[in-house]
Amino acid sequence: MPSKRDYYEILGLSKSASLDEIKSAYRKLAMQFHPDRNKEAGAEEKFKEISEAYAALSDPQKRQVYDQYGHAGFDQRFSQEDIFRNADFGDFQDLFRSMGFSFGEMDEDSHFGGMFGSMFGMPRRQTGRHLQAEVSVTLQEAAKGASRTIEYRRQAPCDTCSGSGARPGSGLKDCAKCHGRGQVQQVRNLGGFGRIATVAPCQNCRGRGQIPGRECEECAGRGYRAKEESIEVKIPQGVDDGMRLRLSGLGEMGPDGPGDLLVRVHVRPDERFEREGEDLHVQVPISYTMAVLGGKVRVPTLDGEAEMSVPAGTQSHTVLRLRGEGLPRLHGKGKGDLLAQIIIEVPKRVDERQKELLRRLDEEGKEKKKGKWF
Ligand SMILES: [Zn+2]
Ligand SMILES: [Zn+2]
Repeated sequence: MPSKRDYYEILGLSKSASLDEIKSAYRKLAMQFHPDRNKEAGAEEKFKEISEAYAALSDPQKRQVYDQYGHAGFDQRFSQEDIFRNADFGDFQDLFRSMGFSFGEMDEDSHFGGMFGSMFGMPRRQTGRHLQAEVSVTLQEAAKGASRTIEYRRQAPCDTCSGSGARPGSGLKDCAKCHGRGQVQQVRNLGGFGRIATVAPCQNCRGRGQIPGRECEECAGRGYRAKEESIEVKIPQGVDDGMRLRLSGLGEMGPDGPGDLLVRVHVRPDERFEREGEDLHVQVPISYTMAVLGGKVRVPTLDGEAEMSVPAGTQSHTVLRLRGEGLPRLHGKGKGDLLAQIIIEVPKRVDERQKELLRRLDEEGKEKKKGKWF
């Protein structure tokens, strides 16, 4: 394990810093490195580091141990969980939430995982696993929105006991281990620093304080059992390839509730259109004559066809824009554009008469050029 940096150094403080100084240093750094704001590599690690330093130094008892024994002695006495347990993050929790940052979320998918679970003295919630599914749609479906039925197997709430784990009619009774309190006290010895008492959720009843009078036979008291599910997923219009939809609560059931079902959407490549965000690119072949004289050409769109004017004297590979013929913006208003690239097609075969006409055209062109230049 790499050696840890000094907690004071991490927060940019001197050893004599006051609690107010510790708080204000943490506030400043946390705003800077919060992973919801700072997307740079290493920001999350940095955020964890400053949070740990703050948790340790803002608690007078822990700070005293740290000052006297340094990291080595501190780590012997406090586990990562101990450091965050009962730490006073109250002010910051509100501050971050008011800014729309996540903080203390119990979701295993969030940035912080178990760290913040123990930070607030709460047990890490054992929600069930997230499950994954994949669907694929055509570009047209991505433009219009679609729906798919997903069939999968998961641990789902037991129908017999409605997820309570209790045999119907048998009711609930107080947990014998915690006497219905849902919590048990744990006393830890801190060497020369006396003992600290912490309160932890009761393992026997998972903090609920009550257990089933008699276990449900269908699910053996767990409250959930394997089940085949069939659910319809709405795919929003404008969906991009690789996007993930979260169907909350439809994952595996666990002791403290279900995880989520995460559906990855694949948008299949299209033969005609190339997608770039909300815009579409398409190639439109036109004849040499049309390029010279101008005219109207039919352009494929997602819905069918559109007519487009080609100005006289259009060069090959010119891009013309058809507004609003692209894809709808996801969760927004309006649509992207269709960008049509003009490709001048050179005929592969011409007959004698056409050859003659072209030669005459060429001669005339040369004459004109001469006249222009001389
Ligand atoms: Zn049951
Ligand atoms: Zn209990």
